[in-house]
Amino acid sequence: MERLGFALVGLGKLSGEQIAPAFKRTSHCRLTALVSGTPKKLKEWGAKYKIPEESRYSYETFDEIAENPDVDIVYIVLPNAMHGEFTIRAAAAGKHVLCEKPMEVSTKKCEQMIAACKKAKRQLAIAYRLQFEPHHLEMIRLARKKEFGKVKLIEASFGFKIGEPGQWRLKHDLSGGGALMDVGIYALQAARYITGEEPIEVSGMETKSDSRKFAEIDESIFWTMRFPSGAMANCGCNYVADDMDRLRVYCEEGWFELQPAYEYSGLKARTSKGPLTIKNVDHFATEMDAFAKNILEGEPTKVPGEEGLADVRVLMAVYESIRKGRPIRVND
Ligand code: NDP
Repeated sequence: MERLGFALVGLGKLSGEQIAPAFKRTSHCRLTALVSGTPKKLKEWGAKYKIPEESRYSYETFDEIAENPDVDIVYIVLPNAMHGEFTIRAAAAGKHVLCEKPMEVSTKKCEQMIAACKKAKRQLAIAYRLQFEPHHLEMIRLARKKEFGKVKLIEASFGFKIGEPGQWRLKHDLSGGGALMDVGIYALQAARYITGEEPIEVSGMETKSDSRKFAEIDESIFWTMRFPSGAMANCGCNYVADDMDRLRVYCEEGWFELQPAYEYSGLKARTSKGPLTIKNVDHFATEMDAFAKNILEGEPTKVPGEEGLADVRVLMAVYESIRKGRPIRVND
Protein backbone atom coordinates (compact mmCIF):
# COMPACT_ATOMS: atom_id res chain seq x y z
CA MET A 1 0.00 0.00 0.00
CA GLU A 2 1.40 3.40 -0.92
CA ARG A 3 2.19 5.67 2.03
CA LEU A 4 2.65 9.43 1.85
CA GLY A 5 5.33 11.12 3.96
CA PHE A 6 4.29 13.60 6.65
CA ALA A 7 6.34 16.35 8.29
CA LEU A 8 5.08 17.25 11.77
CA VAL A 9 5.50 20.95 12.57
CA GLY A 10 5.45 21.80 16.30
CA LEU A 11 6.27 18.97 18.67
CA GLY A 12 3.95 19.82 21.55
CA LYS A 13 1.27 17.93 23.45
CA LEU A 14 -1.03 17.07 20.57
CA SER A 15 1.82 15.97 18.30
CA GLY A 16 3.43 13.90 21.06
CA GLU A 17 0.42 12.28 22.68
CA GLN A 18 -1.92 11.79 19.73
CA ILE A 19 -0.54 12.41 16.25
CA ALA A 20 2.90 10.79 16.25
CA PRO A 21 1.66 7.54 17.89
CA ALA A 22 -1.25 7.41 15.41
CA PHE A 23 0.99 6.84 12.36
CA LYS A 24 1.35 3.14 13.22
CA ARG A 25 -2.43 2.80 12.89
CA THR A 26 -2.58 4.36 9.40
CA SER A 27 -2.61 2.60 6.03
CA HIS A 28 -1.43 5.46 3.81
CA CYS A 29 0.83 7.61 5.99
CA ARG A 30 4.30 7.59 7.48
CA LEU A 31 6.14 10.13 9.60
CA THR A 32 9.18 11.22 7.59
CA ALA A 33 10.24 14.64 8.91
CA LEU A 34 10.16 16.79 12.08
CA VAL A 35 10.06 20.57 12.48
CA SER A 36 10.68 22.11 15.90
CA GLY A 37 12.12 25.13 17.66
CA THR A 38 13.56 22.88 20.36
CA PRO A 39 16.79 21.08 19.31
CA LYS A 40 16.47 18.57 22.17
CA LYS A 41 13.07 17.43 20.88
CA LEU A 42 14.44 17.02 17.35
CA LYS A 43 17.16 14.75 18.74
CA GLU A 44 14.88 12.68 21.00
CA TRP A 45 11.98 12.40 18.55
CA GLY A 46 14.41 11.78 15.69
CA ALA A 47 15.80 8.76 17.53
CA LYS A 48 12.38 7.51 18.67
CA TYR A 49 10.71 7.74 15.24
CA LYS A 50 13.85 6.97 13.19
CA ILE A 51 13.86 10.29 11.32
CA PRO A 52 17.28 10.91 9.74
CA GLU A 53 19.09 14.11 10.70
CA GLU A 54 18.66 15.62 7.24
CA SER A 55 14.86 15.40 7.71
CA ARG A 56 14.87 17.36 10.97
CA TYR A 57 14.24 21.11 10.60
CA SER A 58 14.08 24.22 12.75
CA TYR A 59 11.56 26.98 11.99
CA GLU A 60 14.42 28.87 10.32
CA THR A 61 15.51 26.00 8.06
CA PHE A 62 11.93 24.83 7.37
CA ASP A 63 11.89 26.07 3.76
CA GLU A 64 14.61 23.53 2.87
CA ILE A 65 11.83 20.93 3.11
CA ALA A 66 11.15 21.80 -0.56
CA GLU A 67 14.15 19.63 -1.42
CA ASN A 68 12.95 16.63 0.61
CA PRO A 69 11.21 14.06 -1.62
CA ASP A 70 10.16 12.03 1.45
CA VAL A 71 7.71 14.76 2.50
CA ASP A 72 4.36 14.99 0.69
CA ILE A 73 2.24 16.57 3.43
CA VAL A 74 3.10 19.12 6.12
CA TYR A 75 0.95 18.76 9.26
CA ILE A 76 0.89 22.06 11.18
CA VAL A 77 0.39 21.64 14.94
CA LEU A 78 1.55 25.07 16.13
CA PRO A 79 -0.15 27.81 18.18
CA ASN A 80 -3.11 29.17 16.19
CA ALA A 81 -1.52 32.45 15.05
CA MET A 82 1.40 30.56 13.43
CA HIS A 83 -0.80 28.37 11.19
CA GLY A 84 -0.92 30.93 8.37
CA GLU A 85 2.80 31.54 8.08
CA PHE A 86 3.66 27.84 8.01
CA THR A 87 0.84 26.90 5.64
CA ILE A 88 2.03 29.55 3.19
CA ARG A 89 5.67 28.46 3.52
CA ALA A 90 4.71 24.77 3.12
CA ALA A 91 2.71 25.51 -0.03
CA ALA A 92 5.60 27.55 -1.42
CA ALA A 93 7.80 24.48 -0.77
CA GLY A 94 5.40 22.47 -2.95
CA LYS A 95 3.82 20.44 -0.13
CA HIS A 96 0.18 19.65 0.66
CA VAL A 97 -0.96 21.00 4.04
CA LEU A 98 -2.97 19.55 6.90
CA CYS A 99 -3.50 22.38 9.39
CA GLU A 100 -4.84 22.13 12.95
CA LYS A 101 -7.95 23.97 14.07
CA PRO A 102 -8.75 26.82 14.35
CA MET A 103 -7.43 27.52 10.85
CA GLU A 104 -6.09 30.97 11.86
CA VAL A 105 -6.99 33.99 13.97
CA SER A 106 -8.62 36.14 11.26
CA THR A 107 -10.60 35.61 8.07
CA LYS A 108 -7.94 37.56 6.17
CA LYS A 109 -5.23 35.08 7.20
CA CYS A 110 -7.49 32.17 6.21
CA GLU A 111 -8.04 33.71 2.78
CA GLN A 112 -4.27 34.12 2.31
CA MET A 113 -3.73 30.45 3.19
CA ILE A 114 -6.35 29.32 0.68
CA ALA A 115 -4.84 31.55 -2.02
CA ALA A 116 -1.30 30.28 -1.34
CA CYS A 117 -2.31 26.62 -1.64
CA LYS A 118 -4.37 27.29 -4.78
CA LYS A 119 -1.42 29.10 -6.36
CA ALA A 120 0.92 26.21 -5.53
CA LYS A 121 -1.71 23.68 -6.74
CA ARG A 122 -1.54 21.87 -3.43
CA GLN A 123 -4.40 20.69 -1.20
CA LEU A 124 -5.13 22.38 2.10
CA ALA A 125 -7.16 20.47 4.71
CA ILE A 126 -8.17 21.61 8.17
CA ALA A 127 -7.75 18.89 10.80
CA TYR A 128 -11.40 18.49 11.77
CA ARG A 129 -10.94 14.94 13.08
CA LEU A 130 -14.61 14.55 14.04
CA GLN A 131 -15.78 14.89 10.45
CA PHE A 132 -14.24 11.41 9.92
CA GLU A 133 -15.35 9.88 13.23
CA PRO A 134 -18.09 7.21 13.17
CA HIS A 135 -20.23 8.65 16.02
CA HIS A 136 -20.33 12.06 14.38
CA LEU A 137 -20.91 10.52 10.94
CA GLU A 138 -23.91 8.67 12.40
CA MET A 139 -25.30 11.92 13.89
CA ILE A 140 -24.93 13.54 10.46
CA ARG A 141 -26.67 10.56 8.81
CA LEU A 142 -29.57 10.71 11.28
CA ALA A 143 -29.98 14.42 10.51
CA ARG A 144 -29.73 14.12 6.71
CA LYS A 145 -32.04 11.08 6.51
CA LYS A 146 -34.49 12.80 8.87
CA GLU A 147 -34.70 9.59 10.92
CA PHE A 148 -36.32 11.63 13.70
CA GLY A 149 -37.86 14.22 11.40
CA LYS A 150 -36.44 17.64 10.65
CA VAL A 151 -33.71 19.06 12.90
CA LYS A 152 -35.23 21.83 15.00
CA LEU A 153 -32.86 22.72 17.85
CA ILE A 154 -29.26 21.88 18.74
CA GLU A 155 -27.40 22.15 22.03
CA ALA A 156 -23.62 21.85 21.68
CA SER A 157 -20.97 22.70 24.23
CA PHE A 158 -17.35 21.90 25.01
CA GLY A 159 -15.12 23.15 27.80
CA PHE A 160 -12.46 22.21 30.32
CA LYS A 161 -10.51 23.67 33.22
CA ILE A 162 -7.33 25.10 31.72
CA GLY A 163 -4.14 24.75 33.76
CA GLU A 164 -0.83 26.54 33.63
CA PRO A 165 -1.24 30.36 33.44
CA GLY A 166 1.86 30.97 31.26
CA GLN A 167 0.71 28.95 28.25
CA TRP A 168 0.15 30.34 24.73
CA ARG A 169 -3.59 29.55 24.82
CA LEU A 170 -4.00 32.47 27.27
CA LYS A 171 -2.00 34.91 25.11
CA HIS A 172 -4.07 36.69 22.50
CA ASP A 173 -1.26 37.25 20.00
CA LEU A 174 -0.66 33.48 19.74
CA SER A 175 -4.20 32.11 20.25
CA GLY A 176 -6.40 34.81 18.69
CA GLY A 177 -8.92 34.21 21.49
CA GLY A 178 -9.75 31.85 24.33
CA ALA A 179 -12.22 29.04 24.88
CA LEU A 180 -14.25 30.04 21.81
CA MET A 181 -11.31 29.64 19.39
CA ASP A 182 -9.98 26.52 21.10
CA VAL A 183 -13.03 24.42 22.02
CA GLY A 184 -16.11 26.46 21.10
CA ILE A 185 -15.14 25.72 17.50
CA TYR A 186 -16.18 22.06 18.03
CA ALA A 187 -19.70 23.12 19.01
CA LEU A 188 -19.87 25.45 16.01
CA GLN A 189 -18.62 22.70 13.68
CA ALA A 190 -21.20 20.27 15.05
CA ALA A 191 -24.05 22.75 14.56
CA ARG A 192 -22.89 23.41 10.99
CA TYR A 193 -22.47 19.77 9.96
CA ILE A 194 -25.64 18.58 11.66
CA THR A 195 -27.79 21.23 9.95
CA GLY A 196 -25.68 21.18 6.76
CA GLU A 197 -26.28 24.94 6.71
CA GLU A 198 -24.41 28.17 7.39
CA PRO A 199 -25.78 30.30 10.24
CA ILE A 200 -27.35 33.61 9.24
CA GLU A 201 -27.40 35.32 12.64
CA VAL A 202 -25.38 34.90 15.86
CA SER A 203 -25.76 36.35 19.33
CA GLY A 204 -23.21 35.84 22.12
CA MET A 205 -22.69 36.61 25.77
CA GLU A 206 -19.57 36.10 27.88
CA THR A 207 -18.61 35.98 31.54
CA LYS A 208 -15.25 36.01 33.31
CA SER A 209 -14.65 34.69 36.81
CA ASP A 210 -10.86 35.23 36.73
CA SER A 211 -10.05 38.51 35.04
CA ARG A 212 -6.31 38.17 35.72
CA LYS A 213 -5.77 34.72 34.25
CA PHE A 214 -8.10 35.50 31.34
CA ALA A 215 -7.05 39.15 30.90
CA GLU A 216 -6.28 38.72 27.20
CA ILE A 217 -8.83 36.14 26.13
CA ASP A 218 -12.41 34.89 26.63
CA GLU A 219 -13.07 32.44 29.45
CA SER A 220 -16.72 31.35 29.10
CA ILE A 221 -19.16 32.10 26.28
CA PHE A 222 -22.66 31.03 25.34
CA TRP A 223 -23.94 31.91 21.91
CA THR A 224 -27.00 31.24 19.78
CA MET A 225 -27.16 30.78 16.01
CA ARG A 226 -30.10 30.87 13.65
CA PHE A 227 -29.98 28.85 10.40
CA PRO A 228 -31.86 29.47 7.10
CA SER A 229 -34.17 26.46 7.70
CA GLY A 230 -35.29 28.02 10.99
CA ALA A 231 -33.24 25.58 13.08
CA MET A 232 -31.44 27.17 16.04
CA ALA A 233 -28.30 26.14 17.92
CA ASN A 234 -27.40 27.06 21.47
CA CYS A 235 -23.66 26.62 21.96
CA GLY A 236 -21.25 27.03 24.85
CA CYS A 237 -17.57 26.81 25.76
CA ASN A 238 -15.41 27.49 28.78
CA TYR A 239 -11.93 27.28 30.32
CA VAL A 240 -13.00 26.95 33.99
CA ALA A 241 -15.21 23.83 34.34
CA ASP A 242 -14.53 20.23 33.29
CA ASP A 243 -16.86 17.79 31.52
CA MET A 244 -18.83 20.30 29.42
CA ASP A 245 -18.84 17.96 26.42
CA ARG A 246 -22.15 17.42 24.71
CA LEU A 247 -24.08 17.48 21.44
CA ARG A 248 -27.85 17.02 21.51
CA VAL A 249 -30.10 17.38 18.47
CA TYR A 250 -33.86 17.85 18.95
CA CYS A 251 -35.99 16.91 15.96
CA GLU A 252 -39.71 16.87 15.11
CA GLU A 253 -40.09 13.25 16.30
CA GLY A 254 -37.34 12.61 18.85
CA TRP A 255 -33.72 13.42 19.60
CA PHE A 256 -30.19 12.07 19.26
CA GLU A 257 -27.06 12.93 21.19
CA LEU A 258 -23.39 12.35 21.94
CA GLN A 259 -22.02 12.65 25.46
CA PRO A 260 -19.09 12.80 25.70
CA ALA A 261 -19.03 14.23 22.20
CA TYR A 262 -15.62 15.67 21.39
CA GLU A 263 -13.01 13.61 23.32
CA TYR A 264 -10.34 11.55 21.54
CA SER A 265 -12.10 8.30 22.53
CA GLY A 266 -15.01 6.87 24.50
CA LEU A 267 -17.77 8.83 22.73
CA LYS A 268 -21.27 7.64 23.60
CA ALA A 269 -24.36 7.92 21.42
CA ARG A 270 -28.03 7.79 22.46
CA THR A 271 -31.34 8.57 20.82
CA SER A 272 -34.88 9.00 22.10
CA LYS A 273 -35.32 5.31 21.13
CA GLY A 274 -32.30 4.11 23.18
CA PRO A 275 -28.50 3.79 23.13
CA LEU A 276 -26.51 3.23 19.92
CA THR A 277 -23.42 1.05 19.68
CA ILE A 278 -20.83 2.60 17.38
CA LYS A 279 -17.20 1.59 17.07
CA ASN A 280 -14.43 3.86 18.32
CA VAL A 281 -11.52 4.58 15.99
CA ASP A 282 -8.22 6.46 16.27
CA HIS A 283 -9.37 9.94 15.22
CA PHE A 284 -5.95 11.11 14.02
CA ALA A 285 -5.08 7.95 12.06
CA THR A 286 -8.49 8.13 10.36
CA GLU A 287 -8.18 11.82 9.53
CA MET A 288 -4.61 11.50 8.19
CA ASP A 289 -5.47 8.42 6.13
CA ALA A 290 -8.46 10.20 4.59
CA PHE A 291 -6.31 13.15 3.49
CA ALA A 292 -3.51 10.91 2.16
CA LYS A 293 -6.09 8.90 0.21
CA ASN A 294 -7.56 12.09 -1.27
CA ILE A 295 -4.12 13.09 -2.50
CA LEU A 296 -3.25 9.63 -3.82
CA GLU A 297 -6.56 9.47 -5.71
CA GLY A 298 -6.56 13.13 -6.83
CA GLU A 299 -9.84 13.81 -4.99
CA PRO A 300 -10.59 16.98 -3.02
CA THR A 301 -10.64 16.81 0.78
CA LYS A 302 -14.02 17.25 2.47
CA VAL A 303 -12.44 19.64 4.99
CA PRO A 304 -10.76 22.26 2.75
CA GLY A 305 -9.52 25.70 3.77
CA GLU A 306 -12.96 27.10 2.91
CA GLU A 307 -14.41 24.97 5.75
CA GLY A 308 -11.90 26.47 8.20
CA LEU A 309 -12.67 29.97 6.91
CA ALA A 310 -16.43 29.41 7.36
CA ASP A 311 -15.82 28.66 11.05
CA VAL A 312 -13.47 31.59 11.64
CA ARG A 313 -16.04 33.92 10.02
CA VAL A 314 -18.68 32.81 12.56
CA LEU A 315 -16.26 32.87 15.52
CA MET A 316 -15.40 36.49 14.66
CA ALA A 317 -19.13 37.31 14.48
CA VAL A 318 -19.63 35.86 17.98
CA TYR A 319 -16.87 38.14 19.31
CA GLU A 320 -18.41 41.09 17.44
CA SER A 321 -21.82 40.33 18.93
CA ILE A 322 -20.32 40.28 22.45
CA ARG A 323 -18.46 43.55 21.81
CA LYS A 324 -21.50 45.32 20.39
CA GLY A 325 -24.08 43.74 22.68
CA ARG A 326 -26.43 42.78 19.84
CA PRO A 327 -27.01 39.96 17.30
CA ILE A 328 -24.80 40.00 14.20
CA ARG A 329 -25.86 38.85 10.74
CA VAL A 330 -23.42 36.52 8.97
CA ASN A 331 -23.20 34.89 5.54
CA ASP A 332 -25.62 37.47 4.06
P1 NDP B 1 1.31 22.78 22.70
O1 NDP B 1 1.56 24.06 23.43
O2 NDP B 1 1.35 21.52 23.48
O3 NDP B 1 2.36 22.63 21.50
C1 NDP B 1 2.59 23.67 20.59
C2 NDP B 1 4.02 23.54 20.08
O4 NDP B 1 4.24 24.58 19.15
C3 NDP B 1 5.10 23.75 21.14
O5 NDP B 1 5.40 22.59 21.88
C4 NDP B 1 6.27 24.20 20.30
O6 NDP B 1 6.88 23.05 19.74
C5 NDP B 1 5.60 24.94 19.15
N1 NDP B 1 5.75 26.40 19.27
C6 NDP B 1 6.38 27.19 18.37
N2 NDP B 1 6.35 28.47 18.76
C7 NDP B 1 5.70 28.52 19.95
C8 NDP B 1 5.39 29.56 20.84
N3 NDP B 1 5.72 30.84 20.59
N4 NDP B 1 4.73 29.25 21.97
C9 NDP B 1 4.37 27.97 22.24
N5 NDP B 1 4.65 26.94 21.42
C10 NDP B 1 5.32 27.20 20.26
O7 NDP B 1 -0.08 22.95 21.94
P2 NDP B 1 -1.04 21.80 21.39
O8 NDP B 1 -0.24 20.72 20.85
O9 NDP B 1 -2.04 21.49 22.42
O10 NDP B 1 -1.83 22.60 20.23
C11 NDP B 1 -1.23 22.87 18.97
C12 NDP B 1 -2.32 23.13 17.93
O11 NDP B 1 -3.15 21.98 17.83
C13 NDP B 1 -3.28 24.28 18.25
O12 NDP B 1 -3.62 24.96 17.07
C14 NDP B 1 -4.51 23.60 18.84
O13 NDP B 1 -5.69 24.34 18.64
C15 NDP B 1 -4.52 22.31 18.06
N6 NDP B 1 -5.15 21.21 18.81
C16 NDP B 1 -6.07 20.42 18.17
C17 NDP B 1 -6.65 19.36 18.81
C18 NDP B 1 -7.56 18.46 18.07
O14 NDP B 1 -8.22 17.63 18.71
N7 NDP B 1 -7.64 18.54 16.75
C19 NDP B 1 -6.38 19.09 20.24
C20 NDP B 1 -5.36 19.93 20.80
C21 NDP B 1 -4.79 20.96 20.10
P3 NDP B 1 8.46 22.96 19.50
O15 NDP B 1 9.09 22.98 20.86
O16 NDP B 1 8.59 21.67 18.80
O17 NDP B 1 8.86 24.15 18.67
